[in-house]
Amino acid sequence: MGTMLRVVNVSKKYPFSSKNALNNVSFSLKTGEWRAIVGANGSGKSTLLKILACALPADSGEIWLEDEQITQYSLYSLLAEHPHIQYVSQHLGLKPFHTIRENIAYPIRHLGERARRQRIEELLEIFELQEFQNQKPQTLSGGQQQRAALAVALANIPTLLLLDEPFSHLDMPLRFELYQVIQKIRNLFCTTILWVTPQLEEALAYVDTVSVLEKGCLVQTGTPQEIYYAPATFSIAKLFGEYNIVEGSIVRPSRIEIALNPTGNYVIQQVTFCGIYYRVVVEHFVHRQQLVVYSLEKLPLFHRADVRFKN
Ligand code: ADP
Ligand code: MG
Repeated sequence: MGTMLRVVNVSKKYPFSSKNALNNVSFSLKTGEWRAIVGANGSGKSTLLKILACALPADSGEIWLEDEQITQYSLYSLLAEHPHIQYVSQHLGLKPFHTIRENIAYPIRHLGERARRQRIEELLEIFELQEFQNQKPQTLSGGQQQRAALAVALANIPTLLLLDEPFSHLDMPLRFELYQVIQKIRNLFCTTILWVTPQLEEALAYVDTVSVLEKGCLVQTGTPQEIYYAPATFSIAKLFGEYNIVEGSIVRPSRIEIALNPTGNYVIQQVTFCGIYYRVVVEHFVHRQQLVVYSLEKLPLFHRADVRFKN
């Protein structure tokens, strides 16, 4: 697979701000790659996506979409948007006085009648919007509106889809539904996706790769497993949930097995029900080091246990 997007040393400082919002950020995405961009609040995620959406000019650096340099696209083009890039955020941008069908038809009005109708039907089906197609956006639920906004963004089959926390106000079942739809879109059209989401553990299940931003700098890129189990720093580890520090290394609770044993070295101090698993805190009998482990079974408090570190 070829390279779809290449970002080279992009920097950005907002006027009146003392620090760079982005600092020499470089990375590339393969065609059809789905990448999560993660980082604390204010780390520069939205700034990066807006620059890639050509909605904000970078101060320096280059952005290549296949063979086209798009860095200054927004300055030279009379069109506000690049035809092959779509940006979707929580702000839906649906036209309130038009039906869902009309909203989807608008970005593909240049297509011939037949092709247009076919694309609309396809999108209505993928996003399960057939029964709402003649309704106006405000008569739909939040989740349905979000699906419609995605359908509009995908109408022209963008080569690059930029998602800036578009689902964070939806509840979990709806988010999972949309993740499935995006997966389907990616498989159908080989769309390259850059996704910012606060639901980091959910993102790990879907994306091919993850890049971490810290204060405007790209500090680590890897597969979900690499980022989760071998984060480069403690602050990256913290983004993805709990961890133990064992002899200076980061060890996730899921990498530790626990078994009751009357002569074990640890004492069970705390057991909390977390849905699929129990979160168990154990303390070493002698040197008092505490570990967090996850157990599928409810374990008895203050019993002795042994732990085993899995590879
Ligand atoms: P994130 O999306 O990761 O939360 P942003 O890209 O929105 O981060 O912001 C990165 C930094 O740039 C933050 O320090 C933020 O305060 C600053 N910033 C964002 N937008 C503007 C703006 N329009 N003017 C000045 N500073 C901004
Ligand atoms: Mg943001």
